[in-house]
Amino acid sequence: MKRIDIKKLIKPNIRNLRAYYNAKEIPCRVKLDANESPYGFEINDKILKSIKTNRYPDPEAKNLKKIIAKNLRLNPENILFGNGSDELIYYLITVFDGPVLYPVPTFSMYGIISQALGEKTIEIPLDNDFDLNMEKILTAIKKQKPKLIFLSSPNNPTGNCFSADRILKIVEFTSSLVTCHLSLVVVDEAYQPFSSEKGFLPMLSDYKNLVILRTLSKIGFAGLRVGFMIADREIINEVNKVRLPFNLNSLSQAVAAALIKNPNTIKLHIGLITSERERLLNELWKIRGIKPYPSEANFILFKVKNSDKIYYRLLKKGVLVRNMKGVVNGCLRVTVGTKKENNIFIKALKEVMK
Ligand SMILES: *Cc1c(COP(=O)(O)O)cnc(C)c1O
Repeated sequence: MKRIDIKKLIKPNIRNLRAYYNAKEIPCRVKLDANESPYGFEINDKILKSIKTNRYPDPEAKNLKKIIAKNLRLNPENILFGNGSDELIYYLITVFDGPVLYPVPTFSMYGIISQALGEKTIEIPLDNDFDLNMEKILTAIKKQKPKLIFLSSPNNPTGNCFSADRILKIVEFTSSLVTCHLSLVVVDEAYQPFSSEKGFLPMLSDYKNLVILRTLSKIGFAGLRVGFMIADREIINEVNKVRLPFNLNSLSQAVAAALIKNPNTIKLHIGLITSERERLLNELWKIRGIKPYPSEANFILFKVKNSDKIYYRLLKKGVLVRNMKGVVNGCLRVTVGTKKENNIFIKALKEVMK
């Protein structure tokens, strides 16, 4: 074969991209790196038999939409599905103009997808409490006029919710016809089910420029890839133009619909995870040299000296957490697992800290 430099054919903005973190290859005993739920669901034969493999899926996922709308007391017309909320982030940045503003550190996909689609990004550092730095954000809005703003609340990887009044201020500031700083504000509520705050669904009807992202991934269905956005009809219609027609496959639609019909088990799991989170936080506080940050999500960020070394020592003991090197230096992020998994993690951490 002739030697061809494929790189020459690649768009410059893609050439400099790096593929998203992939931990599937790292062997471990306890997997606490990807904010998955430790509790999965069994899929029974009745569900599987309802799936017609030779037919295309329902492009609108009407049945699943109806169930989610009912659970969250929403109008189905305000919901649009993605193959995970990642896909919806992709669609939103495809449809709406840049620049794209988001605080940092935050979920890496806002930056990766912006770069992939050639949109300029505006990264604003969070303040010392990991909250939104309003002065810097409002100045950036005035000067650089972002058309899209992503706010992950609770924020990944810091775990906290941003102050609701600050989020609201941004939504208001960017919806004002007087100041003409119009932007779409996307509040990514991937971790909302674990939070003690009420979130932004109740605000949707007040602000047309507000979009909310939700996902089933963190509550036990990461393998199904079901995310959804909730927004004004007009926004849904625009995003629907770029959505690939069959983005949610039949298996995911049928399984998700059957398993979330009765939300009690999911709620039970969420209760177990949040109470384990508080126990884990307490345990982490007790370990000398560890500084954990409070969390409203299903993971905990903690600071530790020689974080890189600690990460590899934990891995040697079979415990996989997320190394936040380059994102929040000196920090590791641990997903809340089952009681047993958390105990293995705590025991291993105490040993490697000695
Ligand atoms: C995990 C995560 C997502 C991605 O969710 P999927 O529905 O699995 O694509 C989106 N936003 C944040 C902040 C996340 O942490």
